[in-house]
Amino acid sequence: MHTTGRLAPSPTGAQHVGNARTYLVAWLSARPRGGTVRLRIEDIDSPRVKAGAAEQAADDLRWLGLDWDGDPVVQTERLPLYASALDELKRRELVYPCTCTRADVAAAASAPHADHEGPTYPGTCAGRTSADADRLAAEGRPFAWRFRVTDSPPFTDRFAGEQRLDQRELGGDFVVWKSAGTPAYQLAVVVDDAAMGVTEVVRGDDLVPSTPRQLLLYRALGLTPPAFAHVPLVVGEDGRRLAKRHGDTRLAALRAAGVRPEALVGLLAWSCGWRPTPEPVAARELLPAFRLEAIPPRPFVLTAELLRGIGFT
Ligand code: GLU
Ligand code: ZN
Repeated sequence: MHTTGRLAPSPTGAQHVGNARTYLVAWLSARPRGGTVRLRIEDIDSPRVKAGAAEQAADDLRWLGLDWDGDPVVQTERLPLYASALDELKRRELVYPCTCTRADVAAAASAPHADHEGPTYPGTCAGRTSADADRLAAEGRPFAWRFRVTDSPPFTDRFAGEQRLDQRELGGDFVVWKSAGTPAYQLAVVVDDAAMGVTEVVRGDDLVPSTPRQLLLYRALGLTPPAFAHVPLVVGEDGRRLAKRHGDTRLAALRAAGVRPEALVGLLAWSCGWRPTPEPVAARELLPAFRLEAIPPRPFVLTAELLRGIGFT
């Protein structure tokens, strides 16, 4: 079967070393055997989108030596597509209008959820039907659309193996359309991956909890899901996910400091178990060495010493 992978940067900020590692894995996974790679700019999260960040992300990818086929797909240009998917879900009563605020959901939840996913939605508005939206709109009450979760599809992750997260406990009914009138990530990503013919999704394992939601949407919309591979993230020396507190690891900063892309790619290739030492290498030279299974099943700790080793001080 022909493989189509994708690179899906969010232009909400600059791309950093952690993003680079995931893109490298996604690109290497799709490219052998003549696979296709698409680029999608996930810019529907509008309040957080930074001007120029989409171009910057494309430049960062090119700098890394990664390429893609066809024109980039830009989510803000595809709103009608997401709206028609929502209409389909409404018609089939698979979603309902929810007027709860974040504070309502938090107050009604029995226990706050451990991770960043937030509390489980208690189903306060689940008694509504999609027709109730007209009345709410007439009253001027803002509402989001939530998907009715009846079960939680297990899936076999190509990297992480069998996954059995229960969406009924892990978030419950989830938002597919925000009260601001824009699609939520979960809906947009499913509509896009299906429309773009994506057959494999390779992304950071922080998105494992999103996958059961996306599988529910594939099923509800009668679409075929891709294969999923969730790979460990890059963390700082404190074990926390790479962020500003770890100093500047933006690719733009590395570039400005004169770091060669091959030096970074070499470091990442070594971190993924494809090379015995972090010697410089071009992304395309890694194609024969690529093995998803070689990647260690734990986060990669990016130390100041490793950054110094690639000439970033
Ligand atoms: N745009 C998301 C990110 O940059 C990736 C979403 C996905 O791969 O499904 O984190
Ligand atoms: Zn509600």
